[in-house]
Amino acid sequence: MSEPVKLSKVEGIKEASRQLRGTIADELVNGEDHFSGDAIQLLKHHGTYQQDDRDQRGGGNREFIFMVRSRIPGGKVTAEQFLAEFDLCEKYGNGTLRITDRQGFQLHGVLKSNLRDAIRGINEVKLSTYAACGDVSRNVMCCPAPFRNNKVHQQMQETADAVAAHLKPRSQAYYEIWLRDGDENQKVHEEVVEEEPIYGKTYLPRKFKVGITLPEDNCIDVYTQDLGLLAVVENDEIIGYNVLVGGGMGMTPAKKDTFPALAKRMAFITPDQVLDVTEAVVKVQRDFGNRADRKFARMKYLIANWGLEKFKAKVEEYYGQSLPEPHPADVTGVDDHLGWHEQGDGKLFLGVNIDNGRIQDVGDFRAKTGIRTILKKYGMDTRLTALQSVIFCDIDPADRADIESILTDHGIALAETLTPTHRYAISCPALPTCGLAVTDSERVMPDLLSGIETELARYGLSDERVSVHMTGCPNGCARPYTPDVGIVGKARGKYTIYLGGNAQGTRLAYLYDDLVPFDEIPQRLSPVFGLFKAERQDGESFGDFCDRKGKEALTEAVAAAVAE
Ligand code: SF4
Repeated sequence: MSEPVKLSKVEGIKEASRQLRGTIADELVNGEDHFSGDAIQLLKHHGTYQQDDRDQRGGGNREFIFMVRSRIPGGKVTAEQFLAEFDLCEKYGNGTLRITDRQGFQLHGVLKSNLRDAIRGINEVKLSTYAACGDVSRNVMCCPAPFRNNKVHQQMQETADAVAAHLKPRSQAYYEIWLRDGDENQKVHEEVVEEEPIYGKTYLPRKFKVGITLPEDNCIDVYTQDLGLLAVVENDEIIGYNVLVGGGMGMTPAKKDTFPALAKRMAFITPDQVLDVTEAVVKVQRDFGNRADRKFARMKYLIANWGLEKFKAKVEEYYGQSLPEPHPADVTGVDDHLGWHEQGDGKLFLGVNIDNGRIQDVGDFRAKTGIRTILKKYGMDTRLTALQSVIFCDIDPADRADIESILTDHGIALAETLTPTHRYAISCPALPTCGLAVTDSERVMPDLLSGIETELARYGLSDERVSVHMTGCPNGCARPYTPDVGIVGKARGKYTIYLGGNAQGTRLAYLYDDLVPFDEIPQRLSPVFGLFKAERQDGESFGDFCDRKGKEALTEAVAAAVAE
């Protein structure tokens, strides 16, 4: 008989939590400035991470703060909701609002004493933080382009909304803890504890990510999702989806068997099968994913262990019928949706870049005031993009000049004035707020981009689209293993450089250089840019060039070029 598997500590916490309740309600009112270890794990399912300002650590002191994340399928946000998040970041947070690379919002720097009010404030405008983090399906991503006369985009958003609703936890814990009034909160221990219909008692082994998009526009990085749905379109209508399974970016260098992975193409399904097949995939991961070691708990490891054929057979068993092979349709392009576009109903939409998604007023860059001014004046709907930017929808062409002048008056760059490097760059927050960060990301990204742009300019490559994603640790939140250039924090002030991915997100990059001091990253890339300029083939992108050369040949060529 095989030994029973020893489950990870977090599994025990979830099991004993009475469906995500644990001691959160009691601890919320105990006068302390932080939660205990077990409650910290459960809080994630409610959309908040306990953190501390790592710049202030020392002498045993920790200043506890909370990140509060809103779960927004497809990044669809009304003006009222956007303005409310601004108010909340000022009232309870650090005065900045961050657009995440999964089309959500994050408040940073919330004190425990303000946590409930912050979460309530988000719910008051019909947004939610429930299941924005934790071992559940997180925010469902979807191409945000707001084409109004286009059935395909509407179908995609409806599918994203339906999947998000279907995979939302059913436990009432969230409402009991955060949304009821005062003393009611003390009664949660007497509440009936219900069982989750999809997640069961212990939810999923690990986080689960779903994304939906079109072949010609992989703006949500569909191959990096645990479950990707790639729409197949005929006669301007979605006839079904290719189901992609097992993508995931995180890895742990100390654990050699961990790896980033692109999703595998598993099956083709029709629109009416989406919810049931999605549920079947989630349940297979629920029942067979690794619950002993969280480093191996993402669905990509289950698929790597079983092979795609066995995984698909199990999904078919759970679903109740066989599934056909994928349709030939695959990713062919990507669009960042920045700049002005016809919306299809006589109105326009405008995509505006926000560096690292951080909306703030600092110096001449007064994005928070600029966006607030536009939303108050025009009240339009908005969409958040996976490249951490914002789309203003439903703009009357007559208002175009006024909106442009509000943006430029507040130091917000219009798309046509941006360098391609800026347009396609994203980063994770890292230090000082992320507890897992080993080094900086967002804070040093401006310097990194200007260093890279200087080197590109040296070879006349300033107009070249080179996508750069940066993270402060190998967990890969900003998807650093798929773009042209991935910069991943490895130690304090030192980074791993990945090359050979592409902006379309269809290829994994390879490790090109390791433990590179931050200041040397542009110089290490410079000879690669030089070779690219000299040897590129017609129409070849930087990522394609690095991929064609391969790590070994590229390293040798760079060494030869440097020695000359
Ligand atoms: Fe934190 Fe690492 Fe994720 Fe960045 S990639 S947010 S440093 S866990």
